[in-house]
Amino acid sequence: MAKNSHIEWTHHTFNPWWGCKKVSAACDNCYAELWAKRMGHQLWGTDAPRRFFSDAHWREPLAWNEEAALAGRRERVFCASMADVFERRADLNPARARLWQLIHNTPNLDWLLLTKRPQNIERLVPWKNDWPANVWLGTSVENQTLAEKRLPFLLKNPAAVRFLSCEPLLGELNLRPWFKKKGLHPIDWVIAGGESGGHSRPMHPDWVVSLLNQCEKFDVPFHFKQWGNWVPADLINEPVRPRILELGNERPITMARVGKKLAGRILEGTTWDGVPLAPLTHA
Ligand code: SF4
Repeated sequence: MAKNSHIEWTHHTFNPWWGCKKVSAACDNCYAELWAKRMGHQLWGTDAPRRFFSDAHWREPLAWNEEAALAGRRERVFCASMADVFERRADLNPARARLWQLIHNTPNLDWLLLTKRPQNIERLVPWKNDWPANVWLGTSVENQTLAEKRLPFLLKNPAAVRFLSCEPLLGELNLRPWFKKKGLHPIDWVIAGGESGGHSRPMHPDWVVSLLNQCEKFDVPFHFKQWGNWVPADLINEPVRPRILELGNERPITMARVGKKLAGRILEGTTWDGVPLAPLTHA
């Protein structure tokens, strides 16, 4: 699916800047920080600078927008893989204002704004009750505590689509309080996955199967991105070194660290590529 992005659930990735500051457990092994360091940039933390880009970089989405229009389809843009659009810093405000204008100028693109700082959204967007139809607004929730903290802030904003990224999934999530009624609920999409990278933490299969079951029960599109580095050992048909893990209060589980490619993205015997139909509307 991804054309100019390595992320399965989007066509393109756009970064208005690079750099961020860690805010919760999901950030512990932030791949973006590692990637920036590998490229020779120290951009993480309060005192570090952020990296900004040229006009040529900002023109790329305009070209994607034209291509999508010519092809008669909508394309998704993930914003941002190397930053958090809602980080509060004065030096980010000019790039943020430019981003809002760019979103306005690219009506054939659906912009996926994913944040771990939903408490800042209301203050930083120029929209109140008139959100553009091409903004999909999401927050990351890796465990129940953060779901309860971040979801109320996400849901205050009437974006066309509201979604959750449960990746890396670090504990069981109960989203039922928000999935109140079949076909009528405030969350339009759930993306889930395990962690990859050097220090990745395993995801208990019961956590992700529970999420899948909740989404199925309430008709919420579900996308399973990956197992990450760890996978239940019985899903792999080649010799592995299984380990019995005890994760939280869950039943012990035999998993193997095989790398994200071999671990794949099969869950309950199939792939899950749910995506909401856009545009939806929230009052
Ligand atoms: S919010 Fe995202 S980009 Fe920022 S440190 Fe956390 S994982 Fe990395």
